[in-house]
Amino acid sequence: MEKLDCRGCLEGEMRAACLENGLKKFRANQVFNWVNARGVHHWDEMKNIGKQDSERLDRVFFIQPLTVLKAQRSADGTRKFLFRLADGESIETVLMDYDHLTSRDRHTLCVSTQVGCPVGCPFCATGMDGFRRNLTAGEITGQVLEISRLLQQEDPKFTVTNIVFMGMGEPFLNYDAVMKAIRILNSENGQNIGMRRMTISTSGVAPKIIQLAQDNPQVGLAVSLHSVRNEVRDTLVPINRRYPLQELLEACRYYSDQTNRRVTFEFALHQQNVSKEEAEKLVVLLKGMLAHVNLIPINPVIGSDVQKAGKERLTMFKRVLEAGKIPVSIREEKGLDIDAACGQLRQRLECEEYASLKQS
Ligand code: SF4
Repeated sequence: MEKLDCRGCLEGEMRAACLENGLKKFRANQVFNWVNARGVHHWDEMKNIGKQDSERLDRVFFIQPLTVLKAQRSADGTRKFLFRLADGESIETVLMDYDHLTSRDRHTLCVSTQVGCPVGCPFCATGMDGFRRNLTAGEITGQVLEISRLLQQEDPKFTVTNIVFMGMGEPFLNYDAVMKAIRILNSENGQNIGMRRMTISTSGVAPKIIQLAQDNPQVGLAVSLHSVRNEVRDTLVPINRRYPLQELLEACRYYSDQTNRRVTFEFALHQQNVSKEEAEKLVVLLKGMLAHVNLIPINPVIGSDVQKAGKERLTMFKRVLEAGKIPVSIREEKGLDIDAACGQLRQRLECEEYASLKQS
């Protein structure tokens, strides 16, 4: 029998596997808690499980920690981690702190869902690097577990409070693993992160937006829009050729009607799209929808032609949306000093030292 990944198992699946293998049901609850609430890496860290049962558990399950290849910390508190997976591939995870903006501690983790990405957005370091494979549910939850474990060594009270599936990869092209990871992370006996505190960010896979509204209406939705014209979006977000704007926006309306939740539209602004006409069209397209627009000044990326937009033009764009009564904000630029845009740390390491790190 193939061993099961402890980090990618629902508690119910773990119970069933324990019973099938002659272990008591309560052992599954204990193991689930040790792995998913406390982030342990080894059976011998599970203090309430004896040697005999640990050996039996080890024949049924495995725990696969992620290895930190590199960690960076920005002056603004943003932290970026490069993890090595069991097969030698690498992924990035970014932790953003918003303590100074809210009355409570808010630690938002931006997790990856694929190694590389098949969508190929030209402004994105991950997209420029191609697609390697989907992550498993255990590799997705593993990013949260490793960060919690690491940060709890500095502050025992540290917890990840919010998750955005916005790291490397298109989450809806790995739908089943992402949805499973969400259910595991939501488990009361594990990380216990509320469904409403998790957000899937998509480049625009319209049929999966509809599926999300039907399967799990509590999970938040963000859409990388970036242009209101198909001919531009076809280039900027190439999945638009498969799911053009009209189909995408219909799916978003369906999601907000079904869930009564607003959709966040990410709009990366750069020289090619920061115009008054673009902003006016955006107002027309989003009129009447529960929506919020998040304007993102694009970080410069090695090897990309896309140029950063100036501050005055960003402000002009925002004012047009406000005049059209569309809720809008400009995303804080975070981690500029640590390659925090999608895929940049990995890309830089590929260039400089990643090859040698991979071999070590
Ligand atoms: S921006 Fe997102 S969807 Fe586009 S290539 Fe990068 S990871 Fe993929």
